[in-house]
Amino acid sequence: MYGELVPPITTDDQKKLDSSVCPFVDETENEFSINSKLYGMLDQYHPDIGSFTKLLAGHVTTGDYRSKGASGGMVKWFLNNALKDNVVDGVIQVRQTEKVESLFEYYIANNPEAVRLGAKSAYYPTNFSDVIREVFESTDERRFAFVGLPCFCHSLRLLQAKYPKLKAKIPLVISIFCGHLKSKHYASLMAMQAGLDNYQDPITYIDFRHKTDHDRNASQYNFYSQHLSSKIYSRRRTALPAGDWKIPHLKIKACDFCEDVFGSTADIIFGDAWIQPFVKDPLGSNLVIIRSQAAMQLINDHSDELSFQEINVQDVIKSQGGSYNHRVRDISFRLKREKEVFGWAPNKRARYVNSIDDIVSQNREKIQLIRTLIREKSRDLFLKVKTANNLAVYTKGVKQLIAELNKLY
Ligand SMILES: Cc1cc2nc3c(=O)[nH]c(=O)nc-3n(C[C@H](O)[C@H](O)[C@H](O)COP(=O)(O)OP(=O)(O)OC[C@H]3O[C@@H](n4cnc5c(N)ncnc54)[C@H](O)[C@@H]3O)c2cc1C
Repeated sequence: MYGELVPPITTDDQKKLDSSVCPFVDETENEFSINSKLYGMLDQYHPDIGSFTKLLAGHVTTGDYRSKGASGGMVKWFLNNALKDNVVDGVIQVRQTEKVESLFEYYIANNPEAVRLGAKSAYYPTNFSDVIREVFESTDERRFAFVGLPCFCHSLRLLQAKYPKLKAKIPLVISIFCGHLKSKHYASLMAMQAGLDNYQDPITYIDFRHKTDHDRNASQYNFYSQHLSSKIYSRRRTALPAGDWKIPHLKIKACDFCEDVFGSTADIIFGDAWIQPFVKDPLGSNLVIIRSQAAMQLINDHSDELSFQEINVQDVIKSQGGSYNHRVRDISFRLKREKEVFGWAPNKRARYVNSIDDIVSQNREKIQLIRTLIREKSRDLFLKVKTANNLAVYTKGVKQLIAELNKLY
């Protein structure tokens, strides 16, 4: 209903539900503990980033990986080098589909051309259960690289601990940074804000990060959608209200209780280098945290196809500033509210206990409250958009909250 993926279970099934590989329940091992187990022997450590080998920023210089990539093009380049060097035989990643009911899906890519079909950034829910089951049940010796958001990598690590066979089959775990994930309805909301006037005209192709010749920096790109009617909408992301990542339009609730800004359980994590001088380059640049030796080796062996420089911990945190402040610094405000409203909140590391006395903290607490209200309200408002086939219901419904929020920045 809300365009979110929920387990296909009935109320009766809930008692039987196995949450032993869920990254969001209190009973499972958290990402920081997994990081310490897998990478604790490495020389470098920071309480937020965990243990790591190297921090880089840069982009791919060979082929069209960068121009066709979400940012610097390094993820698909890295995957193809892992295939080329026989580190793995296949890649488990997300691609765009032609199914209007589910625009993105996990699949297995067995060769470089198939890897190139991987999505750019899919701000859209996906489910990896079918492909992981396929890999788990396969009886051959094939090994795979896996690409996922930090929570998916965390879940995969829990699965690997439970089923060691999966550890052997998936020796390379790659994460992409994630500020937060959106429901399926976010794609439609963006398309409607870009000009689509009929919700019933389904999206057949979408590019959330369409690079254009007019982009002046890495934050400038277009939202682009094609529809069954053949209509196309392409607008500057920043011209669309829902393109503002500070406003949690149609955000998945679990993301508000995720502290894994730096993909702690992955061998290597790629994101956007939103720091100077990289952000000035409209073609996009990657931020990279390298952990495992296999990942480091792949980067070293193919470094002639990259332009990069080493960066420090402060640069990495700065490049994820908004996400870091929201999830590491201010999560305790949301945990407090969750307990007050629902009587329970997940057990989180919450490294910063925010003071409620000073004016700066009071402001930040208000920001968290309004963001939570927007997240909650936007889900219901979009249901009304679907029924009324009218975007104005949504725009009017969030207007006041967004105005209050913007006053606080
Ligand atoms: C929901 C979401 C939120 C993000 N938030 C941030 C952020 O806050 N900060 C930041 O620095 N970067 C963020 N990113 C990552 C960023 O958008 C780029 O994916 C990253 O910089 C890699 O770019 P690239 O050019 O190297 O990737 P490419 O070479 O274009 O490869 C992209 C890879 O990502 C995979 N992929 C795309 N979408 C998904 C998905 N939903 N789930 C699993 N795999 C996927 C593709 O299958 C492919 O393997 C986010 C991405 C997503 C999907």
